Amino acid sequence: MRWALALFLLWSVAAWGAGPHPVVTTSTDLKALVDAVGGEKVKTESLAPPLSDPHSFEVKPGQLAKLKSAALLVRVGLDHEPWLGAALSTVNDPRFVAGSPNYLDTSKGIRLLQAETPRLRADKGAHVHGFGNTHFWLDPENGRPITAAVLEALARLAPADRGYFEANRKNFLARLEERLKEWRSAMAPLKGARVVVFHESWPYFAERFGLVIVASVEAVPGVPPSPSYLAGLIQKMRGSGIRLLIAEPYSNASVVKQVARQSGATAVKLIPSVGGDPAAADYLSLFDLNIKRLSQSAAAR
Ligand SMILES: [Zn+2]
Repeated sequence: MRWALALFLLWSVAAWGAGPHPVVTTSTDLKALVDAVGGEKVKTESLAPPLSDPHSFEVKPGQLAKLKSAALLVRVGLDHEPWLGAALSTVNDPRFVAGSPNYLDTSKGIRLLQAETPRLRADKGAHVHGFGNTHFWLDPENGRPITAAVLEALARLAPADRGYFEANRKNFLARLEERLKEWRSAMAPLKGARVVVFHESWPYFAERFGLVIVASVEAVPGVPPSPSYLAGLIQKMRGSGIRLLIAEPYSNASVVKQVARQSGATAVKLIPSVGGDPAAADYLSLFDLNIKRLSQSAAAR
């Protein structure tokens, strides 16, 4: 059995021949970061589209073939992809397990938020942030550890291209550094602003730019709120003068409308993933767009 696995791993490393190398990611954000490092030496595909709610997404049969032929699988990790387990057991490929060079769990290199929040651990199909908040790519500083892990994974599989990957990452980090300065100054007027979020997608973003998240519309991530919880939330928002409600494009529109109307807050739709809007075509422009939307709605208040 161990021999079979060793042979299989050898074969898969050997199969990583002349590029572009097929990489499968679970999200468009990870695809964007793999592309930033891998450049033209990789051909990356994301299983989930940008605006799929991670709670309800399912892998299509055609995507299983893509997964099977991938040289590297890059995932968010924790309980962010409750749908991945079923896909992996269907594909039944010994390369996609922790410790394999063909498998990268990007959550491993991240300082997680809300890891101590007591929550029921994942039931089947749940995405409840049971092991910590999974939306860590929304702190642009986490672009560093994620691309560092991607660089090591790619270079392990294609050692001859390490220099190319390193140069790409260096270039990406230089651009990131530059944009961070612009983002920090654009967000400065919002420092300390108290906001309510629909889903807890934004704690990493909020921590980076000084927003204070006081409550979520979903009391439990991914679970629709009860009417009594909503009524209490709206009262709290009115009482403490919370002016901003951050929602995602796939958030329940009638609930967003109700909370905004009854609390007097402005709802601002932020894009949680690369490609979720034409203006958020890559990792850096995702933040350009979200920060622009936030500053505009703050200025309009
Ligand atoms: Zn979530």
